[in-house]
Amino acid sequence: MAQPLRLEPRPVIEIHSPATLNKIGEVTIDAAADVRAAIATARAAFRQWSTLDFKQRANVLLSARDLLLARQEDIIQTICAENGKPRMEAISEFFYVCDVITFYAKQAKRFLKPERVTPHLLRNKKVAVHYEPRGVIGLITPWNFPFILTIGEAIPALMAGNAVVIKPSEWTPLIAKLGCEILQQAFTKAGLPAEILQVVNGYGETGGALVDEADMIAFTGSVNTGKRIAERAAKRLIPVSLELGGKDPMIVCRDADVERAANAAVWGAFTNSGQVCISVERVYVDESIADEFTKRVVEKTKQLRQGIDEKNSEQRVDVGAMTFPRQIETVEDHVNDAKAHGATILTGGQRNPNLSGRFYEPTVLANVDHSMKIMTEETFGPVLPIMRVKNEDEALRLANDSIYGLNASVWTKDKTKGERLAAQVEAGMICVNDVLVGFAVTDAPSGGLKESGIGKRHGAHGIRRFCHEQVIITDRFGLKREMIWYPYTAQTERLMLRVLGALFSTRLSQKLKALLGDKNK
Ligand code: NAD
Repeated sequence: MAQPLRLEPRPVIEIHSPATLNKIGEVTIDAAADVRAAIATARAAFRQWSTLDFKQRANVLLSARDLLLARQEDIIQTICAENGKPRMEAISEFFYVCDVITFYAKQAKRFLKPERVTPHLLRNKKVAVHYEPRGVIGLITPWNFPFILTIGEAIPALMAGNAVVIKPSEWTPLIAKLGCEILQQAFTKAGLPAEILQVVNGYGETGGALVDEADMIAFTGSVNTGKRIAERAAKRLIPVSLELGGKDPMIVCRDADVERAANAAVWGAFTNSGQVCISVERVYVDESIADEFTKRVVEKTKQLRQGIDEKNSEQRVDVGAMTFPRQIETVEDHVNDAKAHGATILTGGQRNPNLSGRFYEPTVLANVDHSMKIMTEETFGPVLPIMRVKNEDEALRLANDSIYGLNASVWTKDKTKGERLAAQVEAGMICVNDVLVGFAVTDAPSGGLKESGIGKRHGAHGIRRFCHEQVIITDRFGLKREMIWYPYTAQTERLMLRVLGALFSTRLSQKLKALLGDKNK
């Protein structure tokens, strides 16, 4: 990135591991001028990148995938170090990014090929919709999946022919930097400008500067920031996609497979320390199986191992640290609020006293209801509140009693009933007898309703959102003059009225009358 001339050293953000609290790196903060410079070089790079065909772009990204695979261990360790997650979860992030490269390298051409439209009226025109790259896409991203939501999110934008500038979370910028450097190697190896993909660092101000310069913003993060970004983007009338928070319900019916549902609840609530936008954040379980389900959930939760993975040891942990200091305070606030309103802590309920980093114990709560924050606000931490319900109707009503509508799950051995119930949940993606798997289905649109956001990632939509639709209409017959062109005459007016009547009258007799001309008119 071309740097403007500076006389003073740039301020830095120090990065500390949430698991050890040790400093692990730092990044310099980019001011608005730096962001402008990045966008300018990205725009120049875009002009070259966008002229490549899909195969050429795919080849570059597939060679980037090879370079990523060659740096696999560095990538996994960087994710673990700055985010605090177990190795298995970092490997899942890496897996996703390799998969999303593979998927869009293969499918971009199909998703973005011009679509012929047969006009219902103007049959004398040839019409095609083309998907053209928007230019420079700005990605503003959170800390919970720092590789997936930066490099992974950039892939469809790049495959569509855009340049991309990422503003990663100030809490986890190191993996975006590493991933970007690796992709830049693939660009330069192919004789292309490295500036096709760049990273700018900083807090909200840097993100705001990106909104002021980019041609589109794809934001992933909290509802409040999403609204602020949408307002700022509105001033320039640039498109935004907003992937925001969730409060995902799990509905466990009386005929559920209790063992599978309990295993899913525990993993769905505690993976990534519950810092997943599609975590299981609340359970509604039929009262007839509630005791058995809760007993199994608590037993399984107590067996979880929390801490830090050492690569060279055979021991592995299940639950890592909490990345963001304010998030662990939110978790404490929600648990305290629930306790104050009568909830029971069945296990956990505190920071892990045996670990020095930011670890909150996997926590299961009972006797909860919708007067508590734990059932209505996004907790985004390792807490699983379980509420007993009389029946499916009550579960559905409570599941939909939320400002959010991101993901959900329904548990029943009757799959037809499961799909019927799923269709009644107000959410963008609902699993039947599964959790969190929606994000891995890169073929299908993923995103939320209500305050969970606008726009979808994945599938055809996930790449088309980074394009503008350009319609090309070609005249087929080459008449000297179209009926509605000048000069306006009484004769063409009569003709127009006949066509109008013939086309839009409902009854055949009226159509004929219009076509032949109504003598009384
Ligand atoms: P956040 O909104 O605090 O920050 C996200 C990003 O926005 C960061 O890079 C931050 O620096 C930047 N930012 C902050 N203020 C800004 C401003 N005024 N202008 C421009 N940029 C600004 O979110 P977070 O705490 O990093 O992430 C957690 C949230 O992300 C949760 O709510 C979670 O549900 C959500 N999330 C959603 C999805 C999804 O796909 N729906 C995925 C992951 C996380």
